[in-house]
Amino acid sequence: MIQFNNVSKQFPDGTYAVKSFDAVIKKGEFFVIIGPSGSGKTTTLKMINRLIELSDGTISINDQKISEYDIHELRWNIGYVLQQIALFPNMNIEENIAVVPELKKWSRDKIKQRVDELLEMVGLEPETYRERKPHELSGGQQQRIGVIRALAADPEMILMDEPFSALDPITKEKLQDDMLDLQRRIKKTIVFVTHDIQEALKLGDRICIMNNGEIVQIGTPDDILHRPANDFVKEFVGAQEGIMNEKMNLEDIIQQTECVQVNSSETVPVSTSLHDILHKLKQHDQIFAERDGEIIGVITRQGFIQYLANRVQKRGRENE
Ligand code: ADP
Ligand code: MG
Repeated sequence: MIQFNNVSKQFPDGTYAVKSFDAVIKKGEFFVIIGPSGSGKTTTLKMINRLIELSDGTISINDQKISEYDIHELRWNIGYVLQQIALFPNMNIEENIAVVPELKKWSRDKIKQRVDELLEMVGLEPETYRERKPHELSGGQQQRIGVIRALAADPEMILMDEPFSALDPITKEKLQDDMLDLQRRIKKTIVFVTHDIQEALKLGDRICIMNNGEIVQIGTPDDILHRPANDFVKEFVGAQEGIMNEKMNLEDIIQQTECVQVNSSETVPVSTSLHDILHKLKQHDQIFAERDGEIIGVITRQGFIQYLANRVQKRGRENE
């Protein structure tokens, strides 16, 4: 359990990054913090493992103030995953995963066993991946290693700061699915920062929406969607939800190539939403679009990612 009591952070230059933050994160809970850039999410997260000292208030973990813990013990017992895939480039995958177990002076055998177990847990064959260097893995695979590295020494809680935001939408969805599956099995206390409302609604047991360093609302995904505390929440959820619920714009997304049938494909009506297309593209490299029973084009993963990126950009400009 992580308890925030009236926590504030003012940086030396006068910036109030977090103001009177009050919350209790329950044991085993998936707690998502979301808000616009600069709203105080990272500062809140880093205060938990004392990467940033509080200016005011207290944070307690299992009823003991974090200031009373030995700082190394505290950090080793809290896994930490960052947005930038922060693997050590010169160390192989096994060594990267083993950093904290090494610090804790686990035996060789125990470490090797743990590394194998973790790699298997995220679907990476230990024999194939143990000795590879990070650059020999895809972005999505590297971020999987980032996640299991945080789990390596079996910490009670994990802090994750926008861990999937640098990934393309399909890889991102896969890692989110992994994360849900993982959480069902390991039941850690997870504090997960994101600026992506889809991600928050999908992963969070509860969601904490921040703006200007303050909590605007804490609630379940259902609360946030159906009982928004104010217009800020309504707009924040609405603006981001909008894009994925749009019907796709066929002219932009479909490639008018000869439609060669391949093994792994599916056909969807032209009126399918982007959200549903994304789900289909997790299983198939491409899908066919049909109108009135006739196939009129193909949607590839690459084409879809490109389309989505353009839409988000265009929307950003419209909102400026
Ligand atoms: P978020 O993660 O939500 O984007 P941050 O917690 O990183 O927000 O930052 C919150 C606010 O604090 C921002 O206004 C940011 O500019 C400011 N800030 C963050 N770190 C520092 C620092 N070391 N010194 C001064 N201001 C900072
Ligand atoms: Mg941040």
